[in-house]
Amino acid sequence: MPLVNMKDMLDHAYQNGYAVGAFDLVSLDFLEGIINAAERCDAPVVLSLAESHFEYFDFEIIMSAVVSAARRTNVPVAIHLDHGESLESAIKGIRLSCNGIMIDSSNQALTENISLTRDIVKMAHACGVPVEGELGYVPGVEGEDAEKHPGEIMYTTVSEAKTYVEQTGVDFLAVSIGTVHGRMQGEPQLDFFRLQEINDAVNIPLVIHGGTGLSDDQYQQLINRGVSKINYYTSLSDVAGLCIRENSQRGPLNGYTGLLNGVKETISIEVERCIKLWGSAGRAKKVLAYCEAWAPVEHVIIYNVHGISKDETMTMINEGKKTLSTIPGVLEITTGHSVQEDDAYHYTWIIRFCHRAVIDSYRNHPLHIAFADTLFRPVAGERISIDYQTH
Ligand SMILES: [Zn+2]
Repeated sequence: MPLVNMKDMLDHAYQNGYAVGAFDLVSLDFLEGIINAAERCDAPVVLSLAESHFEYFDFEIIMSAVVSAARRTNVPVAIHLDHGESLESAIKGIRLSCNGIMIDSSNQALTENISLTRDIVKMAHACGVPVEGELGYVPGVEGEDAEKHPGEIMYTTVSEAKTYVEQTGVDFLAVSIGTVHGRMQGEPQLDFFRLQEINDAVNIPLVIHGGTGLSDDQYQQLINRGVSKINYYTSLSDVAGLCIRENSQRGPLNGYTGLLNGVKETISIEVERCIKLWGSAGRAKKVLAYCEAWAPVEHVIIYNVHGISKDETMTMINEGKKTLSTIPGVLEITTGHSVQEDDAYHYTWIIRFCHRAVIDSYRNHPLHIAFADTLFRPVAGERISIDYQTH
């Protein structure tokens, strides 16, 4: 099970002076290219899905593939919702198996940013999921991703960073110190002094957005000052676009598969270059040993009902499925009845939680309490309930 707790993963990077690549993916070619590169480099990796990219793919469908890829590989992986826009987005991301959440409310005033971030941290931590906040603003300048981030740069200030981290409880902080989303124009000017001061003040893993286009030395300077995760997309998109243009020139009549020929490998080569540059290559084994394995808990209830008809039982079950599946941290609810009529317990709930932290937050959630007290327990006195940590 190579899915790991992302907080552990980035803490390891922070303590050992390297950065994990968080590569945004927009298709299966990206997914395979990124995973293949991480495997070749024996490196931890973050598979990142940006809410601003959801117009390009179906988030729910692609997450099935992302989870499959993460489960199948041997290198440590975390799955991150990048630039989550709201509490609802964060809850949905967790339900679809993201185990790290970024909340991007950096375009709002500090008090609103703190208030929204705090709500999301509270919800996500109750699910065992770490949160990345952003302070200051990383704008878009040029390239495919630039229009998603309009406006001017706002540098992160040290005092606001300290206040924000203390008051929200975020696990990682994205900072604005001179990088931009999309392509850089001219030589990037990064404020390393500011970064050093922020790192000294907050002492948690820092994140750089707009990682494309920096020099080898600039990356090293960032990592030396607490940057433990680098978000990277534009360059992957650019090399993929170049590959497609070359395919079209080489064979003007190329169809879809002909145009995409080699795209996966091209992305993979660029990811590999970054992984080696940022110092995470060869660390998979140590990271796996350091991190909590990220595996769901199955909350299993077997029970009998008394005093209601079969139809009323199905109504109760359907109502429960509908309500309980909205509780943060619930991945899936399966219900069923025994195949053999004379089995001791006739019905079951199998509720999959993303992490064992959800055992408590689910039990204490108002929706669960209301359902259990009014619809379930009064008719299901005979029951056994056990939480199983899956492997
Ligand atoms: Zn970003």
